[in-house]
Amino acid sequence: MPAPAIVSDVGKVLIDFDFSIAARRLVEKCDHQAETVMSLFDDIKGPYEVGEISDDEFVRMGTERTGFRGTAEEFAAIWCEIFTPNQPMWDSLAAVAGKVPMFLLSNTNELHKTYFLREFEVFGHFQDGVYSHRAGCAKPGERIFRQTIERLDLDPARTFYIDDLEPNIVTAASLGFQAFHYSFAKHAAFEAELAVWMAAQGIG
Ligand SMILES: [Mg+2]
Repeated sequence: MPAPAIVSDVGKVLIDFDFSIAARRLVEKCDHQAETVMSLFDDIKGPYEVGEISDDEFVRMGTERTGFRGTAEEFAAIWCEIFTPNQPMWDSLAAVAGKVPMFLLSNTNELHKTYFLREFEVFGHFQDGVYSHRAGCAKPGERIFRQTIERLDLDPARTFYIDDLEPNIVTAASLGFQAFHYSFAKHAAFEAELAVWMAAQGIG
């Protein structure tokens, strides 16, 4: 019988992100406007996040499309340096770390995943994760949630799932997860709900 667990999304839950930071840095070395340059990634970001495009291809395509005049390493750094901590969530999870296993479920790509796991201490609380680019599928589809249940040996009814996007919450809830629709503004409500869930699972 699987034990209780917490599964968390990454972006806008554990860390915030702001692609306009990348946009402003990109346009320092190309002939586009900061307001529109990120739209050049619209049709490659999705395929990159489900592993259809490799890191090298993504960097090459992104460099070509934008006409970026820096190195591949500079491009990759600009792509990654968009994240900032969500300190209230880090504090909440530090308080329950070690009492209940914690896992990640993220629509992401290899450059971002490698970067955030390395840079941010909160990820030290997580035992494992399922990532879209490795799974070959993405939220809000059911497939990646089913892979997550199987791979991490979860009982959805005993799993507290946190995500900021409504469609992901809908899928998670339909599969029986105890799903919490998170936003930075709702952190106090999150803490209260997590405490109720912990108590219901008999975790002190
Ligand atoms: Mg998110």
